[in-house]
Amino acid sequence: MSIIARRILNMEESATLKMANLAWELKDQGKDVISLSLGEPDFNTPQFVKDAAIEAIHNDFTHYPPVPGYKDVRQSICEKFKRDNGLEFTPEQIVISTGAKHSLMNICLALVNPGEEVILPAPYWVSYHAMASFAEAKIVEIKTGIENDFKITPEQLEEALTENSKLFIFSNPCNPSGSVYSKDELIALAQVFEKYPKCYIVSDEIYEHINFDDECFSIGTVESIKDRVITVNGVAKGFAMTGWRIGYLGASKEVASACTKLQGQFTSGANTIAQKATAAAVQADPKKIEEMKQTFLKRRDLVIELLKSIEGLGVNIPKGAFYVFPDVSSYLGKSVNGQTIKTADDLCMYLLEDGLVATTSGESFGCPQNIRISYANSEEQLKEAIKRLKNSLAKLS
Ligand code: PMP
Ligand code: GLU
Repeated sequence: MSIIARRILNMEESATLKMANLAWELKDQGKDVISLSLGEPDFNTPQFVKDAAIEAIHNDFTHYPPVPGYKDVRQSICEKFKRDNGLEFTPEQIVISTGAKHSLMNICLALVNPGEEVILPAPYWVSYHAMASFAEAKIVEIKTGIENDFKITPEQLEEALTENSKLFIFSNPCNPSGSVYSKDELIALAQVFEKYPKCYIVSDEIYEHINFDDECFSIGTVESIKDRVITVNGVAKGFAMTGWRIGYLGASKEVASACTKLQGQFTSGANTIAQKATAAAVQADPKKIEEMKQTFLKRRDLVIELLKSIEGLGVNIPKGAFYVFPDVSSYLGKSVNGQTIKTADDLCMYLLEDGLVATTSGESFGCPQNIRISYANSEEQLKEAIKRLKNSLAKLS
């Protein structure tokens, strides 16, 4: 019998990190692997952000910070929320954590009692499922598909919600589908939430700046439900700051202080230098990162065009983030060298072994017919990777 606790034994390993680790291992063995598995911008952190961090070190911001974060940094986050999203918060309603992942885990542990329902529109980001399970939630998935651009309808939401529903968690723009809900679509969902006053809504807007059509509408601005919306964001994606590990949330004072209490026992305040760098990032005009967004847009168009030339793949046009989520069902059940590819997991392993391209299976995102391709990579690598995918897929019959 294992000495490891059941809560860890029962926990799924992060599928995104698992594939990324496999790709790193193969690279270490000298294999020419192209990794399209990890959702990480391939840009470096902007200079003005790095300068703010260096200044913080020189100014001795090296002591324990307040648990929810420095007040001035929380104030900057309030101003960012107002400027970019029309959300009104005071610093008491903001909690800064060690990545948006940490913010999300704080929310799940602070709000969900065992047996309460957490509603996840699928595809969902892998860790939502693991976090909700860890909080012993009853998970209710709402299925979507490529035919409705991976978005749920108000009718589906109405069918899923009950008196026992505690949290609804979604990302907008969505990881992994890249779909973005319009303002009207979100208002229609909010009208359903109005009927379920015990249900909190977690809006994960970490990809807000990588949004190719309109501005990203925040559901937390809808007056009738705004007190129950917890808006999560971070600097990892928009500012290429994945390694700095800063995320934050804006919520009611009650929810923010519960998250602070939890964080005070586990991790304390987030890294001081990274907090000061975050203040510089969120204070900056989003136009400063416009070039990154335009690069992602060009890559999206390239990847879509190349993927469309592969027979049998169903491809939607993502409106944000940096992922495509093709439907690979026509390849499932096919074989190569006596090996049958039964699932999207099998397909991803085959593409890694045969084509040396790392992707992530849709199974852990709640969509077993799909695989996720991250296009946060150079055009040259993307072209080569999709050529390899095409060759490997063509061998299946
Ligand atoms: N939410 C979504 C939708 C993500 O894709 C990620 C991946 N980084 C996170 C949260 C976590 O972000 P962070 O790196 O700030 O923990
Ligand atoms: N969020 C990114 C992804 O989905 C990074 C990996 C992770 O944090 O799980 O690939």
